[in-house]
Amino acid sequence: MSIVTRFAPSPTGFLHLGHVASALVGWRCARAAGGRFLLRIEDIDPTRCRPEFAAAIEEDLAWAGLSWDGPVRAQSAHLPAYRAVLTTLAERGLLYPCFCTRAEIQREVREAASAPHAPDGSLRYPGTCRALTPADRRHRLAAGAPHVLRLDMAAALRAAATPLWFDDLRHGRVLCAPERFGDVVLARRDAPASYHLCVTHDDAVQDVTLVTRGDDLLAATDVHRVLQAVMGWPAPRYLHHPLLTDAEGRRLAKRDQALSVRALRAMGVGAEEVRRRATLAIPCG
Ligand code: GLU
Repeated sequence: MSIVTRFAPSPTGFLHLGHVASALVGWRCARAAGGRFLLRIEDIDPTRCRPEFAAAIEEDLAWAGLSWDGPVRAQSAHLPAYRAVLTTLAERGLLYPCFCTRAEIQREVREAASAPHAPDGSLRYPGTCRALTPADRRHRLAAGAPHVLRLDMAAALRAAATPLWFDDLRHGRVLCAPERFGDVVLARRDAPASYHLCVTHDDAVQDVTLVTRGDDLLAATDVHRVLQAVMGWPAPRYLHHPLLTDAEGRRLAKRDQALSVRALRAMGVGAEEVRRRATLAIPCG
């Protein structure tokens, strides 16, 4: 089976060395196996993403010598596909509208006995709106009440009907515990679909066989496996890599603008040197 990897940045800032490190892992694994390396722009969040950053990412990647195969996929061009997944999940009773405000959720979380936070640091929603009656839901929706759409995690796990795990080239076989995330948001008030939904949908339709990304997204893969299981999408293999750190061992962040590819270029650092500084010594399997 031919290997397909991808780099899937969100255009919320300029490409920095940490991104190049991540892109390099996917690029190297694809090129070493004679496979394909795809570029996907995850621009689903209109409040944080900007087209000029998407253009800059493409330009900086090309400058760094990280060529990708085929056209770039921009998630914002595929909203009907994400809506179709939401409709399927809703028809199967795995999705429900949540009308809680952030302040209400904070209060509900304080009062609930369960863990307050999901592994990604977000508040773990205690499921208040899951208990609304169908009539109440209809009434609020008809009145145009602002809401998000949440996955009913317990129902989804029942629908998956199998223990979930994934194979990671560094972490080995990882058993999933997606209930740690609670009922995750799959569509927001200000964004038509969530990261979890779009990333799993796109990895499936783009036939990605090896998902390479940072260890910061390792836990999120548990949620992705649930969506793959209920939607009947294939489970890719994963390679979650360590995050590139600075000399003091701190994780590079977008605010370290001095480490953006733009800034390094302006300082006269060449593409080969940028790749060298961004190289993580991890095998592709
Ligand atoms: N778009 C995500 C990010 O920039 C990465 C998605 C992924 O690689 O799964 O953090």
